[in-house]
Amino acid sequence: MKATCWMGLRDVQVRNVPDPKILNSRDAIVKITSTAICGSDLHLYNGFIPSMRKGDVVGHEFMGEVVELGRDVHNLEIGDRVVVPFPIACGRCEQCSREMYSLCENSNPNAWMAEKMWGYSPCGVFGYSHLLGGYAGGQSEYARVPFADVGPIKVPEELEDDQVLFLSDILPTGYMAAEMCGIEPGDVVAVWGCGPVGQFAIKSAYLLGAERVIAIDRFDYRLEVARRGGGAETLNYEETNIPEALEEMTGGRGPDHCIDAVGMEGHAPGVAFAYDKLKTNLFMETDRPVALRQAILACRSGGTVSVAGVYGGFIDKFPMGAIVNRSLTIRSGQCHVQRYMRPLLEHIRAGDLDPSYIISHHLKLSEAADGYDMFFKKQDACLKVVLHP
Ligand code: NAD
Ligand code: ZN
Ligand code: ZN
Repeated sequence: MKATCWMGLRDVQVRNVPDPKILNSRDAIVKITSTAICGSDLHLYNGFIPSMRKGDVVGHEFMGEVVELGRDVHNLEIGDRVVVPFPIACGRCEQCSREMYSLCENSNPNAWMAEKMWGYSPCGVFGYSHLLGGYAGGQSEYARVPFADVGPIKVPEELEDDQVLFLSDILPTGYMAAEMCGIEPGDVVAVWGCGPVGQFAIKSAYLLGAERVIAIDRFDYRLEVARRGGGAETLNYEETNIPEALEEMTGGRGPDHCIDAVGMEGHAPGVAFAYDKLKTNLFMETDRPVALRQAILACRSGGTVSVAGVYGGFIDKFPMGAIVNRSLTIRSGQCHVQRYMRPLLEHIRAGDLDPSYIISHHLKLSEAADGYDMFFKKQDACLKVVLHP
């Protein structure tokens, strides 16, 4: 089959690889109809995630048709149309029983690698390095889906792929980011980053009762989607002093909650950025937490900073003093997607949410390399690329 393979720094290629096979009785094989490129894939593309090997099949946002089933999968049938969540989770361990699916204790065969970096291991993830299991991803024609009796959900025929594909990752991720804020009526929420995750965090913050959402980025086309599609007020950080503007917009107190939807490859004008860029280039720091620092310092005393952006390792100049002295709450996590798929599918069915508004490009799977390049360089108003095998 054809699959998108990571070949090295900023090099992905669609190549022929062996077809996936059923390996365990709870596996399914899915024939992929739509699959998307995620901001997290850019961290692989840009070499920020260790333990990638040349030829690894990438992609963790995908959906399609069930074409083969292991003997212990009883809730699906051949021909079912399903969306697959990115965290691979057994559904039976201690963490899964708490619905903390991205912490599944049974799905990362390389847990020992993750334990060295993080103390304990999170779950395995499709197409996301050997550190997270070494599973083949879904930017391909077919994928093997482990624990298929737990993860994939069937989607109704009347909904298009474009409407349900993002249940696999970024819609639940944006929702969980807003949910972690504990929004109360009247609250103001600020969102750093207007990529796909930021867009759905904005949408979800309103769904959960925020009065105002203020969105921050530097790309005007992304800020426009935040305004038109999400109803946010927007700030361009290349034109506006963000801390000052937020203070002014919130009566001198700061936003009640701040969401970091930027992650480890943050960008900023000025000296702060040069500092992180230099330190990461010298391997003295693993991430560039420019948005996270700003979110912490801007947040109202007693507020919540919700971190959906992915960080990998160790960061400098972390404003711990602000967190302690101003009673801030920090919440984070890889999304527990399985927990949110069904309720969010209901929102889509009811017509109060149509996530397809963020799609900027439909490409053929064979054009995956162009998709990565465009999404990375933010060219051609690229916001979300969907690939079709
Ligand atoms: P993206 O790259 O399209 O979006 C990131 C946006 O942040 C860009 O528009 C960029 O211009 C903006 N940005 C950069 N520096 C900024 C700053 N200082 N202030 C404000 N905005 C800034 O990516 P995405 O798909 O939206 O993903 C965003 C993050 O979420 C990534 O780190 C990704 O890995 C992560 N993610 C996490 C989960 C999870 O489960 N926690 C799931 C999916 C994605
Ligand atoms: Zn993703
Ligand atoms: Zn589990």
